[in-house]
Amino acid sequence: MNTKIIKIDENNIDTSLIDEGANIIKSGGIVAFPTETVYGLGANGLDEEAVKNIYKAKGRPSDNPLILHISTIEQLYPLVDEIPDLAYTCMEKFWPGPLTIIFKKSEIIPNIITAGLDTVAIRMPDHPIASMLISKAKVPIAAPSANLSGKPSPTKGSHVVEDMMGKIEMIIDGGGTGVGLESTVLDLSTETPTILRPGGITLEDLRKVIHNVVQDRSITNKEEVPKSPGQKYRHYAPNAEMILYTGDVEKIIKKINSDAKYLMDEGKNVGIMATEETKDSYTVGKILVSGSREKSETIAHNLFDILRKFDEYNVDIILAEGIGFDNIGMAIMNRMVKAASGKVIKL
Ligand code: AMP
Ligand code: MG
Repeated sequence: MNTKIIKIDENNIDTSLIDEGANIIKSGGIVAFPTETVYGLGANGLDEEAVKNIYKAKGRPSDNPLILHISTIEQLYPLVDEIPDLAYTCMEKFWPGPLTIIFKKSEIIPNIITAGLDTVAIRMPDHPIASMLISKAKVPIAAPSANLSGKPSPTKGSHVVEDMMGKIEMIIDGGGTGVGLESTVLDLSTETPTILRPGGITLEDLRKVIHNVVQDRSITNKEEVPKSPGQKYRHYAPNAEMILYTGDVEKIIKKINSDAKYLMDEGKNVGIMATEETKDSYTVGKILVSGSREKSETIAHNLFDILRKFDEYNVDIILAEGIGFDNIGMAIMNRMVKAASGKVIKL
């Protein structure tokens, strides 16, 4: 397939290009587009054949349901069976934005979207290109992250080109995404409001409006089976092996330095994922800075790009500094633990 790549400036959108993308979606094709979280791989969420092609392009397991993206509240009503009061509160406070809400689904949702579940995940993205594309397509857009299944999610147009060239009709390159991590998935279809995946809207943010919100136990305990099907897969993984170091920063630096030396003596090409505050403490290896510990949003923003960069440098192993689990740190560490396939050294 010939993939058309178009560049759009989010501050000066050429609407005729968005029309072109919307027409592809209306006729059953796939368009990758930027959102404020990561790039999405979009198709008409009510067209079963089109959605099948999303799974195919990504190589995504069919038991991993998709999120439907809307641009107005009116679009929500036909998609869900019930809207709890709490959902109205959350939508008012956090939409448009990086919060996906799980609702009881209506009859019109194809089974392929929900992987057979009786609930559906819905989000209203906060990105001018995404909103315009959805409103011009006039359908809810199913859009998982626009990476090959298992790879780090794309946060730049070039990442999408790497993974999706020749597999989809169009890639809209709108530059870098904002948050850099996927949305928070919040289940409001059951008795207790539960975060199924940590993301751009933090537990602390949600607690301000939902006092009894909890996190699915699988987020902090890997022995638990996740309630959200997608959370059970190895994810976000670079080609290189990765080891994550958590705990006291001074101890992390010491241990990474000594492990790096040992691995290099063994002939390994070692990458170190450092932070602004610690980068000068490392003396060997390919050192890349993920962001600042003081401003962890910067780490969220850069994480997936840095993971892809280590692969470009052909490192064999990445020794990565972990950060604290508070605020956006919870979502960052969730992605890092998965990228490391659970290989975590606690110090
Ligand atoms: P992605 O679009 O690749 O960022 O992944 C979407 C995430 O939402 C995955 O972790 C899915 O398992 C989760 N998800 C989608 N629909 C549902 C649902 N109905 N119930 C629980 N989790 C869902
Ligand atoms: Mg994904």
